[in-house]
Amino acid sequence: MLKMNESNYRSGFIAIVGAPNVGKSTLLNQILGQKVSIISKKPQTTRNRVSGIYHQPDCQMIFLDTPGIHKSNRLLNRRMVEIAFATVSDVDILMVVIDTANPDEVSEKLLFDQLKSHQNPTILALNKIDCMQKEDLLPMIQSYAIKYPFKAIVPVSAKTGEQVDRLLNEMKAFLPKGPVYYPDDHITDLPERFIASEIIREKIFQLTNKEIPYAVAVTIEQFKEASDGRIIYINGVIHVERNSQKGIIIGKQGAMLKRIGSRARKEIERMLGVQVMLKLFVKVQKNWASDEKALASFGYE
Ligand code: GDP
Ligand code: MG
Repeated sequence: MLKMNESNYRSGFIAIVGAPNVGKSTLLNQILGQKVSIISKKPQTTRNRVSGIYHQPDCQMIFLDTPGIHKSNRLLNRRMVEIAFATVSDVDILMVVIDTANPDEVSEKLLFDQLKSHQNPTILALNKIDCMQKEDLLPMIQSYAIKYPFKAIVPVSAKTGEQVDRLLNEMKAFLPKGPVYYPDDHITDLPERFIASEIIREKIFQLTNKEIPYAVAVTIEQFKEASDGRIIYINGVIHVERNSQKGIIIGKQGAMLKRIGSRARKEIERMLGVQVMLKLFVKVQKNWASDEKALASFGYE
């Protein structure tokens, strides 16, 4: 095997930032070829910092997916935006993602103002080009080139993967020389337990409406492997804010909870590569999204 010349190896941390729903998590999963960050049509699906590691023989990029930058008075949402900005401050490269089909000027302004205080090289991904007319692209690139001193502007489709290679190449140019932070079979440094709780949350986002997805936090109370290693027993708790929400999550004769559980179980099984016994419980924890202590205990710190 060819041994890399250590002194030429490049590695660094890249934060993925942008408004809610622009496709940040989809882009990260596309880069990795595997799901580490959950996705839904609804904004604010990603709540915590999520990381994914992309390997090449001569470099390593550690991506940090972040919650969307947006204005809100709700404590949980403010916490999410704080998490996003805190991530921005200690990385080597910033990747800003914008939805070309639906640019959000308010969030963009909030983001660009904040970025001005950082010196990190910043690359812009104009996402969802599969949804746009090609002739609209050039004027859009020009308009963003004036808004912020981006090192590069790359139109991509996170969904189809179009131009994602080019985006990676642009970023590679700005990676500092650095160590091999992770072995090359590491795709993420998130614990499987956390990913399991996020998969359950994703199914709730996909299957429920209105305020329900935003009223939910998921914790894992048990994650236990059978002694022969062939089954993993997982107990998940879905925390909601009110009794009425508990009723909706459970559904008629438990039908909704069954659907959430069976979709989540299949996906967790695919991730872990073993059979999973998943039990879900629903607990009411009044106004957890406005409660500092509850937020901390659910991992939003
Ligand atoms: P995030 O909030 O920025 O992390 O956005 P997500 O990755 O959760 O994606 C939000 C929605 O946009 C989902 O329904 C995705 O399937 C969709 N989406 C993301 N990237 C693309 C893309 O390149 N093209 C299209 N058509 N849809 C996309
Ligand atoms: Mg996301």
